[in-house]
This record gives sequence, C-alpha cells and structure tokens, in this order.
Amino acid sequence: MKYIDEYRDGRLIGKLAEAIRREVCRNYVFMEVCGGHTNAIHRFGIPSLLPKEIKLISGPGCPVCVTGKDFIDKALDCAGQQDVIIASFGDLIRVPGSHSSLEGARREGADIRIVISASEALEIAALNPGKKVIFLGIGFETTAPGTAVTLVNSEKERITNFFVLNAHKTMPNAMDAILKDGSSIDGFICPGHVAAITGSEIFDFIPERYNLGCVVTGFEPADILHAVLLLVKQVNNAGQKVEIQYRRAVTKKGNTLAKKYMAQVFEPCDAWWRGFGIIPDSGLRLKEEFRIHDAERFVPQSESKSHTEDKYCLCGEILRGNKVPPDCSLFGRDCIPDHPVGACMVSMEGSCNTWFRYRLDE
Ligand code: SF4
Repeated sequence: MKYIDEYRDGRLIGKLAEAIRREVCRNYVFMEVCGGHTNAIHRFGIPSLLPKEIKLISGPGCPVCVTGKDFIDKALDCAGQQDVIIASFGDLIRVPGSHSSLEGARREGADIRIVISASEALEIAALNPGKKVIFLGIGFETTAPGTAVTLVNSEKERITNFFVLNAHKTMPNAMDAILKDGSSIDGFICPGHVAAITGSEIFDFIPERYNLGCVVTGFEPADILHAVLLLVKQVNNAGQKVEIQYRRAVTKKGNTLAKKYMAQVFEPCDAWWRGFGIIPDSGLRLKEEFRIHDAERFVPQSESKSHTEDKYCLCGEILRGNKVPPDCSLFGRDCIPDHPVGACMVSMEGSCNTWFRYRLDE
C-alpha cells in the first residue's frame, strides 16, 4: 500500500501538474493507447488537473473493444455444442454478438466459466477429461504469453482436451495504422504492461518514421502526469523519442522468457480490429505444431461471420481517437454498462464505459 501511495501522493501530483502548466506553450493532443490508462486517467480525474491546451484521447488498446462480433459468434457456436466448456475472461461475456452474448448463452444453459488466466482454463480441462475446454484467448502482448505458456504446458502434461479460440493481437501495427492515415496526435502515452513484456523498443519506429514521441508509463496518477510532462517537453524541444517513465517495470528489451514462449507458440498473421478492419501482421496465430489445440476447428465453416455493428454505434471511430463517447447519440441513454450496445461500453477499459462511470456529468 505504501508503494501505491507514493504514486498517489497529493503533493507530488500537485508539483507535476504545476510543472506541466509551466511548460505548456501550444495545443497538444496525446493518445493513451491502452484501455487501462483510459480507465486510470478518468478514475483519477487527470483531465481536471491538466491545462485546457492538453487533450488526451483514447486509442485502440482495450482488447475486448477491438475484438470483432464474429469472435463472439464463433464462441457462441462452440458454446452451443455438446460437452463443451467455455472459459472466458469476465468482461468478454457481456459483449454483444450478432444475436446474443455469452452471458445470454449461459442463462440458456451453456457451460461458460469465468477465469482469470489461461492456466485456470487448463486446470478445468485436466479436471474434465470428457469435455472440450475452450479458452477464449484475447488481449495483447500482456495476455498472449500466458496463453503461450499454457499451450506449452498442455503439451507437456498431455492434456488433449484443452483448446484456444484465439484472437490475440499486437499493438505496434495498430499504432502504425493510426499514423499512416494521417493524424493530429503529438505523442503517445504507451502501455507499460505491454512494454514490460516486449520492451520499449517496439515503439522505436514511431519517432523514427513519424517523428512523434512516446512515453511508456505506469497506471498511477503520478505516472500518467509525469508521462504527460515528458511528452510536452519532447514536443517543445523537438526531441521526439521513446522514453521509459515506468522504470520500475519496463526495460528496453523486455521479458526475454515471455518473448521466447510467444515465439515458440505464435506467428504473426493479419487480424481484424474493430474501427480499423484488417491490419496486416497485427494478430498472432498458433504455429503448426500447436494447431491441434486450435478451437477454430469446432466453428462451423459454412456460416460466414459478420463484423456488422449497430449503425449508430461509434466504437470504431472512438477506438481510432476520432470521436469521444458523448459524440454517440446512444451514449448514456440507450447504451449504458447494464445494457451495452457496443463493446466500448462493456469492458472497464472501454472508453464509453469509463466516461459513463466517471464523466457523465460533463
Ligand atoms: Fe457504441 Fe455505446 Fe459507445 Fe455509442 S455509447 S459508441 S453505442 S459503445
């Protein structure tokens, strides 16, 4: 607790806010890539501490939000089959598919269990040898190593009834997709937990190719304000580079063991992102030697899966940083956390969910 208090210390936060105010000399737009940062920024009231010249916008780093409706539909197809147990992270089960959600399927009798890790799903498989246990693998470089290690362990322990319906993705190409199309962003607040695995070097292409700064930061208010201060200074001094603010967790090279497991199990593939469509090489598919655990084989191939969203839902634009939740005509009325229309209202890391909980009065 003392450790966390250090980064929530009122005097430190006041000093950082004051330092930012002193540095500001123009307008700035910074994108927080990660949904965890979006949540922390609004939860701690960071916008209220910043001068009006600084605008923070959310990016595509909420895994539930960028995962397509087709993935939910595939999971529902699997859940409807005999002797299947679906193991899912909690926030995924309320995401609307084309006709229902996993929560709806569970109410109708499907065996859908909430887990906090892939290894917990593997334990369920070991305890239920007569069932197929399908883990819904979503998330970025933070959760992909856990799925990779679990698949290696399932081979080692010869647990043959463990499968992964896989939609893991990687961050850099999504950031590249935002910049390629032209953008008003002056710098990125980069996800500390992704970089703890990959190392900060995955963001090096951003200053090199686009002359924009990146600061890898943590999730406490002092971390985020410090990152904003560093980004403002980078812009003012035309010294765009990748800086690590989150030194207590991140290095340039990252976690070599986690990266080794990822390389053993996954290979890059094109992936579909809500708001972007297909982004080349932004997904992770199972390598040949692990495809025996691929749950895609249980999805009926005859039915084409749709990415179509509610026509009024602006999730896609919000995930690209082009809109904010109140721009959506459904926000706070037809779409609320208890009755989400789009994925951004479901996850605690989703922009719409976060704005609803912390900024509805604005
Ligand atoms: Fe989509 Fe709901 Fe957000 Fe509107 S408020 S963009 S419908 S999730």
